[in-house]
Amino acid sequence: MKPVLVIGGGISGITTAVEIAEVGKEVILIEKNPYLGGNVVKFNNYFPKLCPPTCGLEINFRRIKQNPRIKYYTSTEVQEISGEKGDFKVKLITNPQYVKNNCTACGKCTEVCPEERPDEFNYGFTKTKAIYLPHEMAFPFKFNIDEKYCKKESCNKCVDICEYNAINLAAKEEVLELNVSSIVIGTGWSNYDASKIENLNYSHSKNIITNVEFERFIASNGIGKNKILRPSDNSEPKKIAFVQCAGSRDENHLPYCSAVCCSASLKHALTIHELYPKAEVKIFYIDMRVSGRNEDFLAKVQENKNIELLKGKVGKISEKENGNLILEAEDILSGKKIKYEAEMAVLATGIVPTELNLNLNTDQNNFFTDMQIDGIYPVACSHKPMDVSASVKDATAAALKAIQH
Ligand SMILES: Cc1cc2nc3c(=O)[nH]c(=O)nc-3n(C[C@H](O)[C@H](O)[C@H](O)COP(=O)(O)OP(=O)(O)OC[C@H]3O[C@@H](n4cnc5c(N)ncnc54)[C@H](O)[C@@H]3O)c2cc1C
Repeated sequence: MKPVLVIGGGISGITTAVEIAEVGKEVILIEKNPYLGGNVVKFNNYFPKLCPPTCGLEINFRRIKQNPRIKYYTSTEVQEISGEKGDFKVKLITNPQYVKNNCTACGKCTEVCPEERPDEFNYGFTKTKAIYLPHEMAFPFKFNIDEKYCKKESCNKCVDICEYNAINLAAKEEVLELNVSSIVIGTGWSNYDASKIENLNYSHSKNIITNVEFERFIASNGIGKNKILRPSDNSEPKKIAFVQCAGSRDENHLPYCSAVCCSASLKHALTIHELYPKAEVKIFYIDMRVSGRNEDFLAKVQENKNIELLKGKVGKISEKENGNLILEAEDILSGKKIKYEAEMAVLATGIVPTELNLNLNTDQNNFFTDMQIDGIYPVACSHKPMDVSASVKDATAAALKAIQH
């Protein structure tokens, strides 16, 4: 029996792989990053329960480790797919594995490494050494080398210090050709490029950040380590504004609703309030779209006197000399034009599907449709925007479809 291939090691790909393996089928899970977990692993916490991402992911990592039917490859992408349901041929490319699996993550290599790189896990707001642990809960728990910044054999300091002979700077890309029975596409999403929304000034003001960046600003293992530090001067802002539908439901940017941004901003507002009970938070929105258990957040926010929900689309953000921001909007309910001064602004930018160069069918917004060659199944956010709980359910459905052969 040929294995199922799952492309993308986010919550949906992981769930699909675990479900397939636990009904007794073989599965191969590939992920382009050096670690599994996708976008969720970068969150501070996730709604509706507000538990840390490790809550849901850790148990899945254990299920992966314990199940010999799952093989996973990180730093790996698919280059080609051909064939048909029951007999697809796939070509996988794995980036050079400079750090071998016997790495114990002791960290001595990082101490001697002279080169630095922007830390993509924190969206470039912090730096790591060129040899680095992707993050403290990384799975697999091993170091990685960023070849753009590593000076390789001309430096060699990490190789010299490693007691376990776990570093091979001469490692090469690996190609793996496989036959698989069906393919699940769980390649997920990235954030809409906020620099395209020129009136919101993201590219020109350090104190305007996006919602995904804000997750790393408030994460206890993130940029400020339990403090929110505004980028221009590291001060702790006490007036923070959220701009909903930043580029979303807008024909010039993303015409659709990303379904999760309202709940995410309510979650963010409540987290700010936990860290700084007296901070003032203003959320500018067009419509507040929350449902199910996330309505509890809305109720909590509405009860909180320091958090204001203001119905009105922000038309412009400008920056003052002291780094503070002026947000201009029309308050729809009173009909008045308002200018609000905040110390920091968070743009609730939407979900954009990850592109794959594999000739798959997409809709007008680049999400993969259900209309693929038989045997190929898009799942969760590669298919349409959804939250984690919906992604997990969709993953179970994808697992069922994939094992039908
Ligand atoms: C600001 C914000 C906050 C949010 N907060 C919450 C929350 O609190 N609670 C909640 O329920 N939901 C939340 N969500 C939604 C949540 O992020 C998604 O439901 C979830 O990420 C969907 O998982 P996924 O596996 O479909 O996609 P992803 O998390 O994007 O995972 C996809 C994976 O595929 C990998 N990949 C991509 N292309 C390739 C390729 N070519 N080859 C191999 N691998 C590839 C990626 O590297 C990634 O690891 C939030 C979303 C946003 C924007």
